[in-house]
Amino acid sequence: MQRVKLLILGGSGEAANLSRALANDPRFDATLSLAGVTEQPVSLPIPVRRGGFGGADGLARYLTDNCIGLVIDATHPFAVGMKANAIEACKRARVRLLALRRPPWCPSDDDRWIMVDDLDAAAEAIGNEPRRVFLTTGRKELAPFVRAPQHHYLIRSVDAPEPKSLPPNAALIVARGPFAEDQERKLLEAHRIELVVTKNSGGTGSVAKLEAAGKLGVPVIMVRRPAPPDAEGIETVATVDEALALLDAHHAGTSARLGV
Ligand code: NAP
Repeated sequence: MQRVKLLILGGSGEAANLSRALANDPRFDATLSLAGVTEQPVSLPIPVRRGGFGGADGLARYLTDNCIGLVIDATHPFAVGMKANAIEACKRARVRLLALRRPPWCPSDDDRWIMVDDLDAAAEAIGNEPRRVFLTTGRKELAPFVRAPQHHYLIRSVDAPEPKSLPPNAALIVARGPFAEDQERKLLEAHRIELVVTKNSGGTGSVAKLEAAGKLGVPVIMVRRPAPPDAEGIETVATVDEALALLDAHHAGTSARLGV
């Protein structure tokens, strides 16, 4: 049996879970692509390539040169540039694209969310009065908070930020999710957090901080997702299980379309 070559565009928990699920599947030969921004990515049982392709042109060339039969875009919801590149490259290289789009979080009745469009607006929404802020927006996007130095920040990221990128009054936690709600509650209490600032990433890995904030009555400044590129006509699923089911269905019913 000829195996279908899959390219998983990663940078999300779903991409890692898909990689694990497909590792021993004899029907597929999957490679995971990472941008290369995380210093020590989780070790996964499929081949991993790292670094950009050089825009949509470079990705289209990669797909053709490597006989890729299907691309699964499992990039993070805020990685809109790569999503657009995937759509364009798959169109040009005539490769099928499956988009895994994790739903955003929605507030529950306990939650006090202040919705903003970007990180500049998030920093502004903290206000002028010094506050104690839990910040989980990513180590490379601290500049707006450096411009609001009156606050105390507890910053959590997967890799440590560059020391010179930090706001003056900051404590650092280097940790990778998933996190449990009781731990998050203890963390918010221990650091006397008055506000949480986060992006609406969705998913289960980092939702516990929102549950903890809701229970403690701590408000959350929530950065809305950027508008994703137009995905009309592209098969889209919300979970890894749905993606696997679709792969099964394609393989069983329409394997010819996948080039098997
Ligand atoms: P982006 O703005 O959409 O992409 C910037 C560039 O990074 C792309 O044009 C591409 O370079 C390269 N790239 C992105 N994802 C790639 C992948 N899976 N494989 C190879 N190259 C990739 O993305 P971003 O917001 O900077 O995020 C970078 C990566 O971190 C993404 O993979 C994303 O899934 C992950 N991530 C992002 C966030 C976030 O909040 N933005 C959070 C967690 C994880 P070329 O044009 O040269 O191909």
